[in-house]
Amino acid sequence: MPLTIDIAPLTSTPTTREESIGTDWCAERLGPVYRPVGDSLAVHVKVSRVADLVEASGRVTGRFAFDCSRCAAEAELAVDAEFEHHFVGEGQLDAGGEDDDGFDADPDVSEHDGARVDIEEIAIQHVLLALPEAPVCAEDCKGLCPVCGTDRNRESCSCALPKSADSRWAGLSQIKIDPKG
Ligand SMILES: [Zn+2]
Ligand SMILES: [Zn+2]
Repeated sequence: MPLTIDIAPLTSTPTTREESIGTDWCAERLGPVYRPVGDSLAVHVKVSRVADLVEASGRVTGRFAFDCSRCAAEAELAVDAEFEHHFVGEGQLDAGGEDDDGFDADPDVSEHDGARVDIEEIAIQHVLLALPEAPVCAEDCKGLCPVCGTDRNRESCSCALPKSADSRWAGLSQIKIDPKG
């Protein structure tokens, strides 16, 4: 069951709900980098409504496992993402997704269908924004030796590391260039 909230009972006095969303969307939308820890994420949401305008704010929290992008060790990180979203009535947003000045539409404003608002999609969007593209196990992770594959966090090796990633150009560093010449 996706997390949606019926609009009709809402009033201008915010109601608070403690909900959870499943993690079945993760494999498709997070790719192979992240794996959810557990089968749900907690969503704390506060909703209110004035006429057609529904305001939702809250946070989504959960834990994800990943393989460090430098040393490949498995690590975990916690996501704690806040969101604030406005749902307006059907047809109240520009169809083109841009306003008259050509700015992109505000991602925190969308239309509802008159019956309910989809909180799950908002929460998922903010989880996606909160996860770094190349996660590391620690900021100072030294990674694997590109020559012998040793985990340099645990032991050091005696490989002579090429200064440049591409050794074909190594000879160029021997050429002296006189800037005045
Ligand atoms: Zn690492
Ligand atoms: Zn090495």
